Amino acid sequence: MADAPSSVPRSLLEADQATLRAFIVARGGKAFHAKVLRRAVLERGVLDYEHITDLPAGLRAILSEELPIFSGRLVDELTATDGTHKLLIEFPGRTDRDKPVSVETVHIPPIRPDRDPNKGATLCVSSQAGCPVACPFCASGLLGLARNLQAHEIVEQYVRGRALGPLSRSVVMGIGEPLLNYTQLSTALDTVRDEMGLGGRKLTVSTVGFPDRLRKLAPQRPRFQLAISLHTPDQAQRDRLVPAMAGVPIEDILAAGDDWFEQTGREVTYEYVLLGGENDSEGHALRLLDRLRGRRCSVNLIPYNPTPELPFYRPESGAPEYFRDTLVEGGLTATIRWSRGLEGSAACGQLRLVR
Ligand code: SAH
Repeated sequence: MADAPSSVPRSLLEADQATLRAFIVARGGKAFHAKVLRRAVLERGVLDYEHITDLPAGLRAILSEELPIFSGRLVDELTATDGTHKLLIEFPGRTDRDKPVSVETVHIPPIRPDRDPNKGATLCVSSQAGCPVACPFCASGLLGLARNLQAHEIVEQYVRGRALGPLSRSVVMGIGEPLLNYTQLSTALDTVRDEMGLGGRKLTVSTVGFPDRLRKLAPQRPRFQLAISLHTPDQAQRDRLVPAMAGVPIEDILAAGDDWFEQTGREVTYEYVLLGGENDSEGHALRLLDRLRGRRCSVNLIPYNPTPELPFYRPESGAPEYFRDTLVEGGLTATIRWSRGLEGSAACGQLRLVR
């Protein structure tokens, strides 16, 4: 039979359809129960086998015993006063010799749910355990990269996140550089879209912007919004702020962003973390304007969220607004994104690998 099981799956999310079918049939269930099961978990978000009542009770009992839904384990969770909820999830090594890794996933509910009861939360997911890019201002790169996440580990973050409250958007802006784990990420995003029903326009992937990779991806018209972390109009400063991209010309990144827009019809958002006294001067704003003028794009300004051991500061009060106004007066679309979850260390750049 083509459906021979490769091995006993460690979790429901880790098992592909064929493996899951074989597992179920070997335990007296029917092949179609595999689909029923995935639907219940992914589409409806049922996380307890006992509640999947369209499966026979005997099978449910066996599944509860033998096949955990998740391969990860929730090791910590934290809620900030603004309702932002951070999950710390530990995933086992792929072999017994590997160490487990932990990543963070953040559920950010709407600020005024009373005003818009249909509006769900934003989920911020991680693509890697640790990060090899090592931007000196970001906590995620402090320990380097432990390993890439597997597709099912990314899906697990979505399933756990949605269990905290309905989602209306998601951003791949947690730990890691998504384009360095793109194969697993895109498999996961397919599942999230096709089986969980979270559509492409509601999904943003943020990257430091590898031009060659972006040029390869754009013709495939991937169904997500693209955000590129730019952070400065000055080449020498970018080489320092985004060390893994040192030597990649800013113009080349912007040209790849232009190509992206042409090929996908979707505008790129440039992210710019405002570091006090570092890249938040009027001169920076004017030079950024020079770089971006005439391009179809928008700018998200993120006032820096401090991490105690890192030598960077929040911009002075009023500086973000001045920076934004300079861009807007020059004809750009620019928005200040005040991060939420600050006091729970759940804000941009505060997520880190815990080993
Ligand atoms: N690695 C990807 C995904 C991270 S997205 C990327 O760099 O695009 C998170 C965004 O928050 C990035 O633009 C990142 O540069 C920014 N960021 C990192 N540390 C930050 C901090 N301490 N305060 C505010 N923004 C930060």
